Amino acid sequence: MTAVSTAPLADTTLTMRACVLREPGRLGTETVSLAPPRAGEVRVRVAAAGVCHSDLHLVEGALGPDRWPLVLGHEGAGIVEAVGDGVTQPAVGDHVVFSLVAPCGSCPACRAGRRTLCAPAGARGVAGVLADGTSRLTAADGTTLQHGFTVACFAEHAVVSAAGAIPIPRDVPLWQAALLGCGVLTGFGAVTHAARVRIGERVCVVGCGGVGMQVIAAARIAGAGTIVAVDRRADKLERALARGATHAVDASAGDAAREVLALTGGSPVTIRLAWDTLAPGGTAVVVGLAPAGAEVSLPAIELLSEKALIGSYYGSADPADTLPGLVELVRSGRLELAGVVSHLIELADIPDALERLRAGEGGRTIAVIDPGIAGIEALGSVPQRRDPREPVPGATRGGRP
Ligand SMILES: [Zn+2]
Ligand SMILES: [Zn+2]
Repeated sequence: MTAVSTAPLADTTLTMRACVLREPGRLGTETVSLAPPRAGEVRVRVAAAGVCHSDLHLVEGALGPDRWPLVLGHEGAGIVEAVGDGVTQPAVGDHVVFSLVAPCGSCPACRAGRRTLCAPAGARGVAGVLADGTSRLTAADGTTLQHGFTVACFAEHAVVSAAGAIPIPRDVPLWQAALLGCGVLTGFGAVTHAARVRIGERVCVVGCGGVGMQVIAAARIAGAGTIVAVDRRADKLERALARGATHAVDASAGDAAREVLALTGGSPVTIRLAWDTLAPGGTAVVVGLAPAGAEVSLPAIELLSEKALIGSYYGSADPADTLPGLVELVRSGRLELAGVVSHLIELADIPDALERLRAGEGGRTIAVIDPGIAGIEALGSVPQRRDPREPVPGATRGGRP
């Protein structure tokens, strides 16, 4: 592996392929230019990136106006190839997972220890710009492109804030590490930091998509007694059972059918369904982005039974603090990542993957941007494994330069 020794210089503007959303519904691979990292920024050679429901929300224009044109992708991993002035960490050659929140460290939320709620980082995520308020991305026709969720990793390279590239050990294959940066961090944080699931508790997971699968794994590792998985697709319920769910409920078969059939992740109907499953004293934790403007109504009388509805954003704790523990779970074999992946694709096939996500088909799709460093040999569909600990065909333990 020679990615680091052959890396372009830190002060070079690169041309590269990237998945660009021009406007809602219009996306495709384009050749774009990426300006060098400025002070406090790093440039990462992207190894692999997961296709997440939040990307689909952007593509559908569901997150409000002015969110385009942009380079998509926010769940990914790669190798640092250049650093800007003043960066002490990460270093060139470090393997990193992207964090879609690069906390400022000094706003009231950061000072209160709630770094995922960092106000400047949140504003930058909406505007699609880096810390100095500008973009490094330009389309071939001269259009300035936003950095999707400040990461923009559906591209061969990404310039991000140094705080948005968290180093990990080199023995975790980067195509799996990609999942850590959104789905895993969000799911595990929701269970351990927001819901604070205790040993023996009953957990119901409504929606078994990319994040739901990680919620199930987290609940199992936290010692939950009963883990009920609810979804409308049999293949997802099967995956959920393999991941540690103790019961599976097909939401398309019962009373919830008509409502749930229309669901997408984070929608008001899902939230209401979660509320309705609560026993007195129970807490419903909502993860994932709901479409802008969506509202939820609840029977107010039920608040009297001390039911609670709370949100959890991106794991509800500093990603840089949470990630090392998750990496250890992966390295020790207690958290298996390959089993949630159903498709390994090329950059150009991301629009198809988003279509699958819209239709609710399959598990997580990973776009393998640079197979040479991603630690995987063959692309294609990943067969469903009965035992999630079985290796994925073509996967290697590589990724080490
Ligand atoms: Zn995501
Ligand atoms: Zn802050």
